[in-house]
Amino acid sequence: MTPSLGSDFAELSRKFNLKLGAPVKKGTMDVTTVFQLLMLKHGIRKTFCWIAPDFPDVDEWTKLDMPFGDQMIWLKKLKDVVESLGLIVYVENLGQGGMEFNHKMIKNEVGIDDTMIQKLENQIGARDVGGNDKFFWFLKEELKPDILSMTGNVSVGRILEYPDCCISYFVDQKTRLLINCITDSFNNSFTTDEQVIEFCLEHYHIDSSPPYQKLFKEFENHTEESRKLFKFISHQACQNCMDNPQSSPSAILNETYANFATQIDNKLFSYFDKNGMAINVGG
Ligand SMILES: [Zn+2]
Repeated sequence: MTPSLGSDFAELSRKFNLKLGAPVKKGTMDVTTVFQLLMLKHGIRKTFCWIAPDFPDVDEWTKLDMPFGDQMIWLKKLKDVVESLGLIVYVENLGQGGMEFNHKMIKNEVGIDDTMIQKLENQIGARDVGGNDKFFWFLKEELKPDILSMTGNVSVGRILEYPDCCISYFVDQKTRLLINCITDSFNNSFTTDEQVIEFCLEHYHIDSSPPYQKLFKEFENHTEESRKLFKFISHQACQNCMDNPQSSPSAILNETYANFATQIDNKLFSYFDKNGMAINVGG
């Protein structure tokens, strides 16, 4: 343990009132945030992100507070603590800036062309931007251009340093959902571009739609397996990463983060090994 790492952890634990030994009821957001901030400060990771679902649409987010594990946190305090580490909090509405699907898979299965796929990507992306979720990015100021230049879910994954194989796996999951929507649209005789777009906008990603529940269940189970296998990463590992739990890109990333937790404090390692990391970006 380097001296600054130990004192940084002690200071953050005090400021955020962390209790590593206490039972976890409402998730590990507080301890996860401290761990991620230490990773940023000590150069293990470049950025991480919270999604705040249904966040109030206010000009000054620092006036509000938010659930933070078993506590609440005043966001002004969070901002001050983050800045005291030489980092910034950047809040945005756009999130991922758009959807990116696997064009080849769509073309093979339902035979629509790139122009039409792009229309679907744009419209589904635009629909999601209209939501009330806010994205809280934590990073060094000089990396802000990377956040501003995000074009969609693939670039979000890259900025968060998720392995390419897992990003592709995630894109393919989204693509399978979309293909289901397009097929259903065709089966309902909605076949013009406008009709297909309208149908997909209405049904894509609505997990209560019966035809998609089976897929969602499959995705949920996969995420659960990934979380059990790799306790220290924030993304869902792809099947290949899970099938090679010693040497895959996710395995290596998991080990790097786990080693860093051990360097900080063995109790911190045990905490995550038992309770897992709070998941940040979804899609
Ligand atoms: Zn992978």
